[in-house]
Amino acid sequence: MALPADYHMHTPLCRHATGEPVEYAAHAVKLGLTEVGLSDHSPMLEDTFDDWRMRNDQLDEYVARVRQAQRDFPQLTIRLALEVDFLPDRVEWVRELAERHPWDYFIGSVHYISGGWDIDSPFKRELWDRCDVNAVWAEYFDRLTQAAVSGLFEIIGHTDLPKKFGHLPSHDITPLVTRFLHACKATDTAIELNTAGLRKDCREIYPSRAILEQAFAHGVAITFGSDAHAPGEVGADFVQAVALAKSVGYTRCRRFAARVKTDVALI
Ligand SMILES: [Zn+2]
Ligand SMILES: [Zn+2]
Repeated sequence: MALPADYHMHTPLCRHATGEPVEYAAHAVKLGLTEVGLSDHSPMLEDTFDDWRMRNDQLDEYVARVRQAQRDFPQLTIRLALEVDFLPDRVEWVRELAERHPWDYFIGSVHYISGGWDIDSPFKRELWDRCDVNAVWAEYFDRLTQAAVSGLFEIIGHTDLPKKFGHLPSHDITPLVTRFLHACKATDTAIELNTAGLRKDCREIYPSRAILEQAFAHGVAITFGSDAHAPGEVGADFVQAVALAKSVGYTRCRRFAARVKTDVALI
């Protein structure tokens, strides 16, 4: 089976990943992948925003490292991308980032909800014990919908991230998901099958089968990503992810070059 492109990989510049782009590329080649994309955490305007992303003045260095991998592995298509945080009051910043380099795609991810809480942070897990879990899911999906509506991103990252540590909503979130998927369809924004969830407490791909079934029913396109934070995680569990996508009906997945989409067969 030919594996789809792995469009979600990090680098040490984000301060919580290991391995250079050339090492991710080497692992991809070893696996027989034909296309990957580096999508490290984008900088914020203020470097003090948090401690899990590259600094603003490292963006050029990031691009240079990806270009090096492209030169070293001409047999592999390596896309230049970013995983960009969506914050409702930072939309202009996303546009500024977009201007700075000839990106192939942006993954728009919601990690932060109001109060400056990055809900997937392993250092803030105790906040989950004190919060209204349903309210977190509602606000998360509200922001995710705004990200899709914005049209600033080719792909929306890890769609049901609040499940990471096992905190599931106690009521049906179908209306929240439907609103989000309508926004994706309206702006032709894809979602990703992100296999990192299998390596977390939730032990499940992002998104769940239920959400993926709804995405297929709404005609929302998909990409694949390992969210690799080490070279050995490239393409992790892609056989399982492809099987899941096919089992809900998908026959195609999406690729990007210079922010222009191509839909290719899912083999
Ligand atoms: Zn993320
Ligand atoms: Zn990521």
